[in-house]
Amino acid sequence: MSNRRLIAIKEALSHLPMENSSENVKVSDYFGINVFNNRAMQEYLPDDVYKNISENIDKTDRIDKRIADQVASAMRAWAISKGATHYTHWFLPLNGATAEKHDSFFSPSSSDNRNIEQFDGGNLVQQEPDASSLPSGGLRNTFEARGYSAWDPSSPAFILDNTLCIPTIFVSYTGHALDFKTPLLKTLSLIDKVATDVCQLFDRSITRVYPTLGWEQEYFLVDEALYHARPDLVMTGRTILGHGPAKGQQLEDHYFGAIAPRVKSFMNEFEKESWKLGIPVKTRHNEVAPNQFELAPVYEEANIAIDHNQLVMVIMDKIARKHKFRILFHEKPFAGLNGSGKHNNWSLATNTGKNLLSPGHTPKTNLLFLTFFVNFIKAVHDHADLLRAAIASAGNDHRLGANEAPPAIISIFIGSQLTKVLDEIEKKVKDRKMTPDEKTELKLNIGKIPRIILDNTDRNRTSPLAFTGNKFEFRAVGSAANCGPAMIALNTIIANQLIKFKNTVDKALDKGEDKDETIFKILRDYIEKSRPILFEGNGYSEEWVKEAEKRGLSNFKNTPDALSAFVSDSTMDLFSKNKILTKKELEARWEIRHENYAKVIQIESRVLADLAGNHIIPTAIRYQNILVDNVKGLKEILSDEQFEKQADVQKHIIGKISEHITEIRKDVREMIGKRKEANTLEKAEMLSQFYCNEVKPYLDRIRYHIDKLELLVDDEMWTLPKYREMLFIK
Ligand code: ADP
Ligand code: MG
Repeated sequence: MSNRRLIAIKEALSHLPMENSSENVKVSDYFGINVFNNRAMQEYLPDDVYKNISENIDKTDRIDKRIADQVASAMRAWAISKGATHYTHWFLPLNGATAEKHDSFFSPSSSDNRNIEQFDGGNLVQQEPDASSLPSGGLRNTFEARGYSAWDPSSPAFILDNTLCIPTIFVSYTGHALDFKTPLLKTLSLIDKVATDVCQLFDRSITRVYPTLGWEQEYFLVDEALYHARPDLVMTGRTILGHGPAKGQQLEDHYFGAIAPRVKSFMNEFEKESWKLGIPVKTRHNEVAPNQFELAPVYEEANIAIDHNQLVMVIMDKIARKHKFRILFHEKPFAGLNGSGKHNNWSLATNTGKNLLSPGHTPKTNLLFLTFFVNFIKAVHDHADLLRAAIASAGNDHRLGANEAPPAIISIFIGSQLTKVLDEIEKKVKDRKMTPDEKTELKLNIGKIPRIILDNTDRNRTSPLAFTGNKFEFRAVGSAANCGPAMIALNTIIANQLIKFKNTVDKALDKGEDKDETIFKILRDYIEKSRPILFEGNGYSEEWVKEAEKRGLSNFKNTPDALSAFVSDSTMDLFSKNKILTKKELEARWEIRHENYAKVIQIESRVLADLAGNHIIPTAIRYQNILVDNVKGLKEILSDEQFEKQADVQKHIIGKISEHITEIRKDVREMIGKRKEANTLEKAEMLSQFYCNEVKPYLDRIRYHIDKLELLVDDEMWTLPKYREMLFIK
């Protein structure tokens, strides 16, 4: 085994499982201790200020300067009591990561030698982190390139690594959103307003509605030593070469299996850190692929859920390093094994504690449920392309439509029971005025919707969107993605749809028509129009691709194509009309995604060319020379007849190695030529299209030959850790 690889493997095997400490402390004793939550606020704020803040926390009104000063001073006292030395505004820029810029509380005094810890309302409410190198999609090209962060009081501040982190939005000097939180918060107020209006048709006590999000995070772990011996993992987050192991996931022996002790001790530690930060992580298990795992919390209000997901990813990365692992959030770290996703479970909750996507006890509550259920379907039907665009990324392209994760065609699975209910409505609701008997029968029927969708076998894992009893599950989101774009798109299309629905109802009511009958008629119309998006069959099948095409559904197979829906007239109109994102802001986001796509493929292509030229080919040639020497030696000692017989096999292998080397050399040269051509392109969209269609195909081709060589070349000489060595953590 090559020296380099041997050292890495020895190092990896030396990481013995860590003992779990068995302190006897209940989670409830320390849940949220590092969060400036209600309990901390109550303790540190004067009563009247606490009351003011807790009543206004969900409103987006400007915070009064006096209140801000008092909150800041309470936060500072609380944070310092917990050992914090610094504070930072914490935001979610468009590169998908989290951003922070720390300032110390400590402030040396120049005049009277009285050093103090400082942090006032001004520091809390607004900061100017500049951060001009974060992506802006051309929104900050002017000399006035400053960015501002502003406090989001609806997501509580927390302490991470002795730093008080204040969740904020991030906008440009000109007021353009430069993050995911700004438009998200706008969608939350919009949903609140329009969904409450709709609820008022049924239940006057509902005065607030908010989206809930429960994400499920999949990830891989790799030993740190092996990770460092794989430049592709270090640079791209995935293996861009490597032959599949003899045993992959085909025995399905990893899924839900016993968690390896070393992994469990990593999980225990990051869970504990998460609980301290008030993140309600709940479920953990082995996933399908070796080294793949999943984590899911209890669902929360969407804004907080997204902050918590971003925070958890940071914590997991940090704790993984401590345990000599590296965590891979990439959607497809290993070819031939399942990729990772981040299911986004979405629903709407009310101030009265109701889940609007949960069927009720009575015909009346079920009509409320059906209203939201059918409006959701209609919204997705009308804006499926936008949802596809929202989840598009270079990493996610490896999953979508690649026969294992959700297909690239957006459709909704609702299960047989609800399909029956929709069929019934479509059949029984009449165009004309309905008789009292007909109405009674219809109501009786919908009264029978089961409260719990019992038939679990009904669950269809191949659908990108599925109704799972009391929520919709958006499964096509990538594991590395911020949930923001998916949630912004979903909230906006639902809100927009609810506005249309309410307007139609109001018009009918103005004409004196019966309310329930009106609602039924509108729902029937929506069901009829949305039929194409409903699909109960196997989303991976070839028939579905054909059927979807017949139905007029889009099938965007790669990111550059999918992104066109970001700037379509329909999307522009949707976002600007509802004041979520301006045309300029949308274009900026679209451009950033194209740029990002092109850069990812560019980096992968560079790394592959480097590995091919500096690792693979030299090794293959060295081994080939051994074979050549061997043949020469055989010729000397064997009889001509014996030699003829045996040399053929040897020569065949030498020839194969030669062929692969030649192909790799040729493809690498061509690929580099293509990259040079790309350098002449300026527009981000053209660049990403070019990288997708002209450069990316070489990645697969070159890999094919490298992976063949891996099987031919002496294992001892191979420099890079192999799949079978990186997978199967013990
Ligand atoms: P799986 O998809 O793995 O089978 P479940 O169907 O049990 O798992 O979904 C679990 C996820 O759904 C959890 O993350 C949970 O928080 C989330 N969830 C449950 N109810 C809601 C809801 N009303 N709104 C949003 N998410 C929810
Ligand atoms: Mg799920």
